[in-house]
Parts: sequence; C-alpha cells; structure tokens
Amino acid sequence: LFITLEGGDGSGKSTQTALLERWLTDAGRTVLRTREPGGTDVGHELREIVLHHPGEIAPRTEALLYAADRAQHIATRVRPALARGEVVVQDRYLDSSIAYQGAGRVLGAGEVRELSLWAADGLLPDLTVLLDLDEGVARGRLDAARTRYDRLEAEKAEFHARVRAAYLELATAEPERFIVIDAALGVDDIAERIRARVEPLI
Ligand code: C5P
Repeated sequence: LFITLEGGDGSGKSTQTALLERWLTDAGRTVLRTREPGGTDVGHELREIVLHHPGEIAPRTEALLYAADRAQHIATRVRPALARGEVVVQDRYLDSSIAYQGAGRVLGAGEVRELSLWAADGLLPDLTVLLDLDEGVARGRLDAARTRYDRLEAEKAEFHARVRAAYLELATAEPERFIVIDAALGVDDIAERIRARVEPLI
C-alpha cells in the first residue's frame, strides 16, 4: 500500500505523515515513512543543489533534479518496501512535481507527469492525501495591508496560487486516488479524516 501526502508549504504534511505512520504501526502494519525530495543519500545531495541555488537553476534543470531524486528513491527504497508488503507513507511525490514544476514553473503538467512517471517506472500511489491550504487568501490580506506594493511578494503569491490550482485539478481528475482535506482544520480532525479513508485499505 502506497500512500502519499501532498500540499503547499506549511500545509501540515509532515505532521500528518508522522501521525499516520504511528496509527498504522499501532494497527500492526510495518511502515516506511519517507519523503521527497531527499529520501535517499543521493537524493539528499540533489535536494541540497535545488534548495541552495535559489533563482539560479533553470526550470528544466529543477524538474530533472527532482526526477533524478525520485528515480533513486522509488527504485532503492519505495519499491523494495512495497515488495516486502510494507505500507509506504510518503511526504510529497509526483503530484508535487506536476504542481510545482509543471504549473508553478510553467513547464506544463503533461510533460512533467510523463517525466515523473518515467523516473518512477510508472509507479502511482494507491491513495493521495491533498492538504489544501488557501494561502492566497492569507497572502492577499497581507499584501492589501501593506502601503508599498511588493512585486516579488505578488509573484510568489501567483506562484503558490498556480501550485494550489494544479493540485486541485489533479484531485478532480482522479477522485478515486485523491482525498482533499482543508488544511485549515485542526490537526486531530485532519488525522481522523485520513484514517477513515485509509482504514478500508489496510
Ligand atoms: O517537502 P518540503 O516542503 O520540505 O520541500 C522543500 C521545498 O521544495 C518546498 O519549498 C517546496 O515548495 C519545494 N518543492 C518544489 N518542487 C517539488 C518538491 C518540492 O518546488 N517537486
């Protein structure tokens, strides 16, 4: 069973990933909790390259580095764990690339999806939890409150709005794979909704 958690920065993915791991472990399942980018030693170095050169890396380079990280992670950690019958609970997967590089960096959702699927040799999650956070509203209020218009902040807001819209489109296109949860809800409430969806799968 392969479960991924997706959502914008600060949507609470890592908290929910940890809570889901604990609940599954308590239910007697062996769990691999992992993440992308950076779920392997090679991937960790690739993640460092991406994160430590802000504004310097071309969009296609960024997409290829994330794809390389994914290829290594899926081949050396995720597939072996799934083959052992473990549950894999993963913070970010190919939907992150489609949303961030495809929509955010405007490389195109279709091509980035193809690249990701090639990197992962076709592996799709059984379930994807999308923690949907209305960052636009929060940022919009912040911008409106400012006296001096900050162009960079507006660009960032547009980037995150594209990411969010892409995630919601993906969830709409594949309703059987996705569960969408409002990330503004409380931690326990979100965890409960995730468990209700996972329970029949285990
Ligand atoms: O998983 P985490 O939120 O720590 O990701 C680190 C950063 O990498 C985030 O700022 C996220 O926006 C970015 N990222 C990205 N494209 C991906 C995966 C993550 O831009 N495919």
